[in-house]
Amino acid sequence: MQLRTKALNKTQLRKQEVSWFGKDLTRRSKSSCELCGATHTKLFVFEVEPIPKVPNIHHCLFACDTCYS
Ligand SMILES: [Zn+2]
Repeated sequence: MQLRTKALNKTQLRKQEVSWFGKDLTRRSKSSCELCGATHTKLFVFEVEPIPKVPNIHHCLFACDTCYS
C-alpha cells in the first residue's frame, strides 16, 4: 500500500516537472498541437518514449486533448 502511494507521488511529481516545460513548448509550438497542428485548444505536455531519467524538453510533445488521449 505504501509502495503504491509512493509510485503515485512520483508520477505526480513527474507531471509537475514536465509541466514546467509548458512555457517553452508554447513558444516552440506557437501554441498549437505539435501532432495535428490544432490551435485555440488546451494543450498538454506529454513525454515521448524512451522516457529519460530526468525530464527533457526534447522528449516532450505539446499536444491537444484529442492527440493526447
Ligand atoms: Zn492534436
